[in-house]
Amino acid sequence: GPVDLECEMLVLGGGPGGYSAAFRAADLGMRTVLVERYPVLGGVCLNVGCIPSKALLHTAAVIEAARALAAHGVRFGEPEIDLDALRASKDKVVSRLNVGLAAMAKARKVELVRGSGSFLDPHHLRVELTVGSGQERSGEVRVIRFGQAIIAAGSQAVRLPFLPEDPRVVDSTGALALRSRPERMLVIGGGIIGLEMGTVYSTLGARLDVVEMSDGLMPGADRDLVRVWQKVNAGRFDRVMLGAKAVRAVAHDKGIRVWFEGADAPSEPQLYDLVLSAVGRSPNGARIGAAQAGVLVDERGFIAVDGQMRTNVPHVFAIGDLIGQPMLAHKAVHQGHVAAEAAAGHKRWFDARVIPSVAYTDPEIAWVGVTEDEAAAQGIKLGRAVFPWNASGRAIANGRDEGFTKLLFDEQTHRVVGGAIVGTHAGDLIGEIALAIEMGADAADIGGTIHPHPTLGESIGMAAEVFEGVCTDLM
Ligand code: FAD
Repeated sequence: GPVDLECEMLVLGGGPGGYSAAFRAADLGMRTVLVERYPVLGGVCLNVGCIPSKALLHTAAVIEAARALAAHGVRFGEPEIDLDALRASKDKVVSRLNVGLAAMAKARKVELVRGSGSFLDPHHLRVELTVGSGQERSGEVRVIRFGQAIIAAGSQAVRLPFLPEDPRVVDSTGALALRSRPERMLVIGGGIIGLEMGTVYSTLGARLDVVEMSDGLMPGADRDLVRVWQKVNAGRFDRVMLGAKAVRAVAHDKGIRVWFEGADAPSEPQLYDLVLSAVGRSPNGARIGAAQAGVLVDERGFIAVDGQMRTNVPHVFAIGDLIGQPMLAHKAVHQGHVAAEAAAGHKRWFDARVIPSVAYTDPEIAWVGVTEDEAAAQGIKLGRAVFPWNASGRAIANGRDEGFTKLLFDEQTHRVVGGAIVGTHAGDLIGEIALAIEMGADAADIGGTIHPHPTLGESIGMAAEVFEGVCTDLM
């Protein structure tokens, strides 16, 4: 059939993976087209994920910090919350970044096609243009012929089939829309997304129940970190139901009535003003006509790739949430760069040793590399050093000394293989440990690096010194 547009590189999906891949491909001289069904770039992360959640978490953290100042002799009184203004300020953060991405695409001459793409064959994509995006008309179709392609179609929230269709039952996107201030809120799924959103709503006044199927909150993080977080946050929760699940829900005038099963769960159904379902995300691999391009998609919708991010069709790459866990923006960005460089003929592989994880709760929890619980489960013995923040001048001055910094070392070489931090700004601190692991640094390298005093980052150097035996273990 007729072709409307030709390019060397087609990128399907304008999230962090897709725009990073498109920008890198263009920088490497490839004529690049980026197809995105939404009118703005940024994908889940920018529009309904990382960024709006952090804008709201920032507000929540400032409210909590203001409350905590009472103990230092400064009282502000109860905050007055204008939900419309709060929502607008969050939306402004997002749109500033949308504008920035559009400018970066334009500067690189990446051609944006706004519409839903589906493969016709290994070298053609059919795009149904999105309504209201410039000169295009609804239902109009464009066919793009491409030399190579990078699929970055991302993921979407998993829907629990028993939850009723009701404005008081939301996924993370609905929770970020901030339509109401509930009094009683249920969070289904005690992972990072559920607990971040729970933190926001509880600071705005909601009492929280959380139900989690596994035996602990924030699966994946070491339990010693989660314990610190849980102690600080105990006051936010009415019930923490572990090894339990919501099994039935019915919408009433007075709220959503939810039934539970499990050891910690109440036998009576409970009534909530808001129910947030945050039980995971499923990949969009089955919705892009991958089979027409010959690309294999597994039964869950994931696409398998090799070390260069190539699918089973060598000129078609896939990156980001679509190819598996961890579903994180910085992983998608890194993979986008690898795919674009490999497509341009560079000898580039995904060989990152570690991908950091962060829960931007209060306090934050961050970890990278090998975790202690994982190592213990596999019977691997590691060197361990912990620096408790109640020995940190800066943490004490901040009034937030509940955290700790932990480093894990290979016992033979003393090289750092893992790190974990619970405490304020843990997410900003964990990058140093990621760099240390990537560079093969050992305890003496980290301990011998002069860290500025007094900072929270100093705790990383102190932990390394603990391991070197300069101090004794302080915990
Ligand atoms: P996506 O961001 O999902 O982008 C895919 C894009 O492809 C979308 O824009 C979609 O519209 C488009 N698309 C899909 N199919 C088609 C099609 N057929 N045609 C055209 N366009 C299509 N990660 C972090 O690292 N840090 C965080 O703090 C963080 N917070 C989060 C908070 C929440 C509430 C959520 C939900 C997620 C969060 N994440 C976070 C995860 C992060 O958002 C994802 O890992 C990241 O967005 C994945 O990027 P991606 O490029 O693979 O896909």
